[in-house]
Amino acid sequence: MIDHLVIVAGGKGTRLSALFGNIPKALVPVGGKPVLQHQLELAARAGVRAATIYAGFLADQIAEFVGDGSRFGMKVAVRVEDAPLGNAGAVLQSLDTLPERFFVMYGDVMMAVDLERMSRFHEDHAAAFTAFVHPNDHPFDSDLIETDAEGRVTALHNAPHAPDRVYDNLVNAALYVVERNALKPAPGKQDFTKDVMPGLIASGAKVLAYRSAEYIKDMGTPERLARVEADLKSGKLDLADSNKPRAAVFLDRDGTLNVEKGFLASQNGLELLPGTGAALKSLRQAGYSLVVVTNQPVIARGEASEDDVAAIHRRLEWELGKEGAYLDAVYLCPHHPDKGFTGERPELKIACQCRKPGTAMVEQACRELNLNAKASWMIGDQTRDIEMARRAGLRAILVRTGTAGRDGNFSATPDFIADDLRAAADMILEQKQAAA
Ligand SMILES: [Zn+2]
Repeated sequence: MIDHLVIVAGGKGTRLSALFGNIPKALVPVGGKPVLQHQLELAARAGVRAATIYAGFLADQIAEFVGDGSRFGMKVAVRVEDAPLGNAGAVLQSLDTLPERFFVMYGDVMMAVDLERMSRFHEDHAAAFTAFVHPNDHPFDSDLIETDAEGRVTALHNAPHAPDRVYDNLVNAALYVVERNALKPAPGKQDFTKDVMPGLIASGAKVLAYRSAEYIKDMGTPERLARVEADLKSGKLDLADSNKPRAAVFLDRDGTLNVEKGFLASQNGLELLPGTGAALKSLRQAGYSLVVVTNQPVIARGEASEDDVAAIHRRLEWELGKEGAYLDAVYLCPHHPDKGFTGERPELKIACQCRKPGTAMVEQACRELNLNAKASWMIGDQTRDIEMARRAGLRAILVRTGTAGRDGNFSATPDFIADDLRAAADMILEQKQAAA
C-alpha cells in the first residue's frame, strides 16, 4: 500500500466566499467538516501514514488546522508556496522531500474511493503515473482523457472541445498515483493535466487510466457544494456502503438504445432512440449502474474492425453525454460461430461463452464493476437478450423497439414487456419502489 499523500491545497474558495468569507478552499466545510479533514481521514483509513499539504492562500489557517497530523493518525507537513505555481509547480520543486511513490489529490475534491485498490492497480501494472478517470454527465465541457485498448493514456483533451469532435467519456478526476522518479523538477507554474501528464506521455512513460465508478466530485461552486452535501447525507460517500455489490441495468445496444439499422459498421449510422438519455438518467438517479452488453459479429465477419466498433461506442457515449446520461461500461462479443463469410477472421469464428445468450459478458461485468446480478435487470429487444438474462439470473424486460422479440430464436419469457426503454425504466423504478 502506498503510504504517502500529497494534497494540493493552494486554492482560494473564491466562488464560495459569499458562503464562508475568506477561507482556503480546503477548509470549506462539507457536512460540518473541512474537505481536507475528509481527505485525511479517508487516506488514514486506507493505511496512508504521512501527508504533505501544499498550501498557498491563507496557508497559516491550514497549518493551524492540521497541526502535526497526529489527530488524524498520520504525520503531516505543510509546505507554503510564496507565489502561485499551478497545481504541480510546488510539488516538482520539492521532489527531493517526497517518497518514491505517492497519491496526489486536489484540495477541493470529495471522494469515496478505495485507495488500497487504486494503489494495487498502480503497482500491479508498474505504472509511472496513474490517473483516476470516470464517465460523467457533462463530458462536452470536461477535461477528457484518451486511452488505447490497454488503458494507457495517449492524449489529453481539455475543454472546450470543438463541436464536431467526439471523444470517450473519460473524465480526469484529479486523483493520481505518481512515481517520483518519473517526474522532473521544473521551474515556475506547472499543471498536472497541461504540463506533467503531456510531458510524461511524450517521453513514453507508462501513464495509465484507472477507470472506476466510485464517488469523486469537486465542491468548488455553491451548486456543486450543495450537491456534495446532499450526497454525503444520503450515504453516497460511505465507502463501506459503496463497496457493496451494486444493482445494475444491463442494456442491449441496437434496437434498444439506438435505432436498429441492420449491423452498424460505422459511427455515422448511430442514432439514439427518442428518450434514451432520459431513461438512463432516471435509472442512474435511482442508483443503478448501466452496462451495455452487445454481440458484434461484424468483427468476426470482417465487416468492421475493433477500431470501428470502438468509434461507434465513443459516439454512443458522446451522444448520451449530450442528454446528460453515461454508461459504466460497454462489453462486446466480437465472435461468431458460423464460418463462410468473405473477409472473415478465422480466429474469431468460434463458439464462445460471451456471445448472447452466453453469460460471460455479464459475469465479467459483475466481477470488474462489483455488481450484484440478483438485484440487476436486462433490457433488450431480442429473445437472446431475454434468454441470456434467464441464464445469468437477471430479471428481464423485452422492449417493443428494434426487433421487438420477433426473431424467434429463443423461447425464454421476459418478466415484463415495455413499449420502449423509457417505459422499461419506469417499470424497474416501480418494482424498486414496491420492494422498498
Ligand atoms: Zn464471444
